[in-house]
Amino acid sequence: MITDTHAHLFWRSYDEDRSGVLARAREAGVDRMIVVGTDVETSTQAFELCKTSEGLYPTAGIHPHDAKASDAGARATIEELCRRTECVAVGETGLDYFKEYSPRSSQLDNFRWHLDLARELHKPVVVHCRDAHEDTARAVADCPGVTGVMHCYTMGPGELAPYLDAGFFISFSGVVTYPRNEDNRLAAAAVPTDRILVETDCPFLAPQSHRGKRNEPALVRSVLECVARERDTTFDELAHATSRNACALFGLPAME
Ligand SMILES: [Zn+2]
Ligand SMILES: [Zn+2]
Repeated sequence: MITDTHAHLFWRSYDEDRSGVLARAREAGVDRMIVVGTDVETSTQAFELCKTSEGLYPTAGIHPHDAKASDAGARATIEELCRRTECVAVGETGLDYFKEYSPRSSQLDNFRWHLDLARELHKPVVVHCRDAHEDTARAVADCPGVTGVMHCYTMGPGELAPYLDAGFFISFSGVVTYPRNEDNRLAAAAVPTDRILVETDCPFLAPQSHRGKRNEPALVRSVLECVARERDTTFDELAHATSRNACALFGLPAME
């Protein structure tokens, strides 16, 4: 079993062939996918999509890019979705100071709101962090009792400690396969076996073999291959460990 812990399968670029994408995932052994919402519209779509197919699990949240739209009405809808039993996590949320599509103050306010909600609901939080390590680590430390995942972890081993100390899991994406990202591969080798996850973040960030093209869950195999090599373990061992970790973090049904 392989688990893709971060897939935006509602994306419009899948509208033509979504069932083919899901069939290819299963042929590739990717039985489980976490379908991650990024605003009110896509979170609602994630829940609808997950009703139509086995092995899909939804989340609801407001991405840092959309933090300026994180008003009381949007938050009420996200909270209602997050309270549903089928919802496996709060987010994605976090901080993105690279694109900075929303002001930093509204990103921080939006992020803290999600952390508080995750604590209240006893659900994990899905965190996006780009060029915002210090503020992200501080917000996580300021909200003890919340665990979650640093999704698409792109930093090196030196930035892992505050997240591991807070009980977070660390998820690697196609970024780990890019030739210049040696530091990210060192991080992939350093994360404890009971805290590591893999994802595609599809349709974005296709692994090196498909770089620049649309990504899809079947290609999480390339991430597993790369990370297994760095960790000096086998593909199957790592697939099993990361699926077991996804069960533990997201409360998924036990694996057969
Ligand atoms: Zn993200
Ligand atoms: Zn995402």
